Amino acid sequence: MAECRDPLDELDAGLADLDAAGLTRRRRIVTTPCRPEAGLADRSAPVLAFCSNDYLGLAAEPALASAAARAAARWGVGSGASHLVSGHTAAHEALEARLAAFVGMDDALYFSTGYMANIGVMPALVGRGDAIFADKVNHASLVDGALLSRAELIRYPHCSLAALEARLAASTAPRKLIVTDSVFSMDGDLAPLPQLLALAEAHQAWLLVDDAHGFGVLGPQGRGSLAHFGLTSPRLILMGTLGKAAGVAGAFVAGHHSVIEWLVNTSRSYIFTTGAPPLLAETLLTALDLIEHGDARRAHLAALIARFKAGLTLTRWQLLPSDTPIQPLVIGDNHEALAVSRALDAEGLWVPAIRPPTVPKGAARLRITLSAAHSFEQVDRLVATLKRLEARHP
Ligand code: PMP
Repeated sequence: MAECRDPLDELDAGLADLDAAGLTRRRRIVTTPCRPEAGLADRSAPVLAFCSNDYLGLAAEPALASAAARAAARWGVGSGASHLVSGHTAAHEALEARLAAFVGMDDALYFSTGYMANIGVMPALVGRGDAIFADKVNHASLVDGALLSRAELIRYPHCSLAALEARLAASTAPRKLIVTDSVFSMDGDLAPLPQLLALAEAHQAWLLVDDAHGFGVLGPQGRGSLAHFGLTSPRLILMGTLGKAAGVAGAFVAGHHSVIEWLVNTSRSYIFTTGAPPLLAETLLTALDLIEHGDARRAHLAALIARFKAGLTLTRWQLLPSDTPIQPLVIGDNHEALAVSRALDAEGLWVPAIRPPTVPKGAARLRITLSAAHSFEQVDRLVATLKRLEARHP
């Protein structure tokens, strides 16, 4: 009989293993609203942060905070129940209508988080015997959604259209779903969405696009990745998150009227959870105004990205090719990535090291993110510090 181990001893051994591999994760306690000059409980002076997904600088925007206060006065705090019981308010309904119009889809559904949206949509569309075709570096929530669906998960090499086409052609699954990040969360590059849609249409497949990092940033008025490429199709399903560029919380799924109606009736992470606070839905209406009229923020962000890329010439570390606010600096080794992150920290700069399993083994990196809330001077300081550290590191 196998020896029975104390379950707590086993966890402690697991934690020790993580530590030895440089994979322990620790949370830092933030003491200020989300902004570039971040206060931290473990530091006496603020640090300069390049790690949020607050791409437009809306998370601490006073107009949004005032909208939230007004919305709290109007709605109170909690929704009190799930959407299909009594938790679906006029604020949620108005947000969904506004989101659908903004992204040019029939209908939209507001979920509490992007993670919940992804694990709710995929099992509603495909199941046992069906097939999901997924880019190898898709976000973890898309992997989890695929596993929950019980469909066969067929992964293709990052952005490889030829590999995807071959896998689609070889599949006899009755229902097929292609799923991709639009802007890859740890790489910053863009998926070839027009070509992916052509493949979806040729193979009678759905194309689910996770626009967590494109919504608000890409496309005219920040309408997202599909608008950036000018794509429309009844095969398309768009997921966008509202806690990143939109600065609040939650996510939406938009698509054909029948898709959304189907999700309302079958998506378990929509049905079996308390509706998000209506004050968030109402606040998001103001966030959408700010996104829609946010060309100046997007232009400043684009200028920051260009300045960062032009300024950062490196010899040892590799900046991945990306024109988005996600600018990953691949270091490789876990311990070295941690050491560089700590060295930046010592200089008052906050850029966390991202390690496996979030990124592939041997590809640990600093995930640098830029925001319209940054100034040129702040980006210059990051560039100068990184250059200095690279020269200093063995
Ligand atoms: N998809 C992608 C590509 C993401 O990066 C994230 C968040 N990191 C999510 C989905 C999940 O969104 P949320 O944070 O709203 O749960």
